[in-house]
Amino acid sequence: MHPIWNQPPTQADVVIIGGGLVGVCLAYQLARRGVNCCLLEKNTLASGASGRNDGQIILETADYYTRMQQVYGKDEALKILRFKRAGQQGTHQLLSEGPTEGPLAYHQQGSLTLAYNEAEAKLIESASTAMIRDGFAMELLDCGQIEAKIHTRRFSMGKHDPYDASVNPAEMTRLIAAEARRHGAAVYENMAVTDVSSGQVHYEGGTINCEVAILATNAYTADLLPEFDNMVFPIRGQVMATAPSDIEIPPYACITNFGYDYWHWTPEGRLILGGRRFIDEHGETGTAHRVNPKVQDALGALFHEIYPQYDHLEVAQRWSGIMGFSKDGKPLIGMIGGDPTLWCAVGFTGYGLGMCWSAGEAVAQVLNDEESELTAILPIFSPNRFS
Ligand SMILES: Cc1cc2nc3c(=O)[nH]c(=O)nc-3n(C[C@H](O)[C@H](O)[C@H](O)COP(=O)(O)OP(=O)(O)OC[C@H]3O[C@@H](n4cnc5c(N)ncnc54)[C@H](O)[C@@H]3O)c2cc1C
Repeated sequence: MHPIWNQPPTQADVVIIGGGLVGVCLAYQLARRGVNCCLLEKNTLASGASGRNDGQIILETADYYTRMQQVYGKDEALKILRFKRAGQQGTHQLLSEGPTEGPLAYHQQGSLTLAYNEAEAKLIESASTAMIRDGFAMELLDCGQIEAKIHTRRFSMGKHDPYDASVNPAEMTRLIAAEARRHGAAVYENMAVTDVSSGQVHYEGGTINCEVAILATNAYTADLLPEFDNMVFPIRGQVMATAPSDIEIPPYACITNFGYDYWHWTPEGRLILGGRRFIDEHGETGTAHRVNPKVQDALGALFHEIYPQYDHLEVAQRWSGIMGFSKDGKPLIGMIGGDPTLWCAVGFTGYGLGMCWSAGEAVAQVLNDEESELTAILPIFSPNRFS
């Protein structure tokens, strides 16, 4: 039994399960609309992917825009980018009002998408042309311009998107949770949900009756709803961080190798570098956190390949994180089946930071009977599209 001081209510309008970025954005958006909501997190806030990623809040990801247009169609690809841009803008508005140094370390420095080879250079060029045509500002860079920004001559070309940002993602999650609390949301940690059924959320030690339960459980969704087993898959990613140094490279969110490899420098001169999952693609599945030596060695080699002049930097930390990959790369956001009491916002795949905000806002709007450009886009992400 939980002590009375840490006992969730027996009744709430909405119960959110999962205290990652998606869960806290949902709680924030609902609470500021006056909805009586309660969030239950089985560990601590940001203990999942939201506190273990590279902190890149970016618009275009491994799915280059031209590829997205081929896979989803032009209209849908554009809507997805607009959904993400709205999320970036909302996040920016909240985060840029506070301190940008210190633990939050939010920087709208922009991103650099860098060509690992000729094939990627062609994709960057064609995708950038299509994005500029659709109203997204960015510029192409040559090798010298890239070197001036981030001290490496490894890349022949790339593109700079000025609206992208990097952040300490764990701190961002905690900050949004604090804002949600300030607006009246109840947030509980170390509270594992064991079962969800129509209008009831059961956790270890009690039950909450509610009008709506929303799963924001990302890679762990199938633990509660087994039918998600073939829709959202747990995929492990590896990250390493160097010790602080006197190297001064602005905190651009850097991505290369078709989204497989990514890094940014922090203001205290740390390199946070992740990726190389393809080295052991079959081994890097499941929900267990595990530092994979093969992939971590490959990250070390990549560090040398990009920054041979900084080889002396000591690696201070290595960790892993679990992503929830969806079947078609798009998240699953909306009502599950025809049950109005059960919703989800899961499967944000390798890049969710730009989208979490819009996901929270769109779901809160629908539940509050509001209509907007975001709610009009929501059907694209219907969890029922695979049935
Ligand atoms: C190594 C790595 C690098 C990444 N890099 C980036 C990046 O640079 N940019 C980017 O945009 N994205 C990145 N991502 C992806 C990004 O982290 C995710 O898309 C995002 O954090 C998803 O947030 P979430 O809230 O859905 O999931 P999570 O943060 O995983 O939150 C889910 C939460 O649900 C909780 N939970 C699960 N089951 C239960 C239960 N039964 N009861 C209660 N609570 C439960 C979990 O404990 C967890 O805290 C990366 C991910 C990884 C792993």
